[in-house]
Amino acid sequence: MIIRMVSCLVALAVAAALSGCAGGQPAAPVGSFSSDNPGSVNIHWVSAPDGLVLVDGLRTLSDARRALTQIQATGQPVAAILVTHPHPDHVGGIGEFDRAYPEAPIYANTATAEFIRTDPLGFYALTHQQLGDDHPAKPVVPDHTVAPGAPVDIAGLHLETAEFGAGEAVAAVAYYQPDSAALFAGDLVGNRVTPALLEGHTCGWLTSLDQLRARFPDARILYPGHGAPGDPAALIDAQREYLRTFRQLTRPTVAEGSPGGGEVTADEQRSIIGKLDRRYPNYPRVASLPNIQELNIAAVATELRGENSAALAPACQP
Ligand SMILES: [Zn+2]
Repeated sequence: MIIRMVSCLVALAVAAALSGCAGGQPAAPVGSFSSDNPGSVNIHWVSAPDGLVLVDGLRTLSDARRALTQIQATGQPVAAILVTHPHPDHVGGIGEFDRAYPEAPIYANTATAEFIRTDPLGFYALTHQQLGDDHPAKPVVPDHTVAPGAPVDIAGLHLETAEFGAGEAVAAVAYYQPDSAALFAGDLVGNRVTPALLEGHTCGWLTSLDQLRARFPDARILYPGHGAPGDPAALIDAQREYLRTFRQLTRPTVAEGSPGGGEVTADEQRSIIGKLDRRYPNYPRVASLPNIQELNIAAVATELRGENSAALAPACQP
């Protein structure tokens, strides 16, 4: 098992580098913990005047315990947990933080809380099957609602928020701390990782990326759900490029007169995976699915088959 720690110092150094110089805006007092087991995923915590505000909660209870050791070493209590979206790798470990800090409110938007409560796609049940008791079959459900676009004021910290529709997940919320220009984007933006496109909303995701960039133009550092923090514009552009490339590679397989008659053939699948591997070498997968590339291709092919090119959002045009 490999555990990578992104120390507070690294995050501060990145923030300082991005802000240009030590004399600029103070770097966001952000700590992070990153786990590779069984798919890379991050938790971040922001140091507020009256405690720490966590962003997301990791996949497993054991990873959450490891992060908790670092969090408790800060000497600050956890004041709140913010959930960006309802995927198991970001909520499975929340129970551990909830046990340690039962008073801390857990924030999410309505769609995210509902998804966690009802598990409509069986994600939590499946993850529980894979990981056993390290991932609860029924994760802790957020108990505080983030209203669309409403700010969150907690522990003396002011955060702006933006809500997004179906894309990487059924719903997403990004959190932005204007004082330090730090943007917590959840899985709307990954850094050099193989994403899960299983829900088949790459067009929604591309639209969300344009909205995210337009909503927080002053962001100086972006903390992603997977991978290292970095420059917001560069990371958003790279995520957009990945999704557009994926759609472009998959589109011919569903075109009229394609070899499989609209179905992806084994040859086409192999060819697409080969091109992805060359273009994005060693991008760790965000989920513990050995066939994530195949599943992504199938989901995006289904999505493309259902698209009406005449009515396609500008972000999704070929
Ligand atoms: Zn996700």
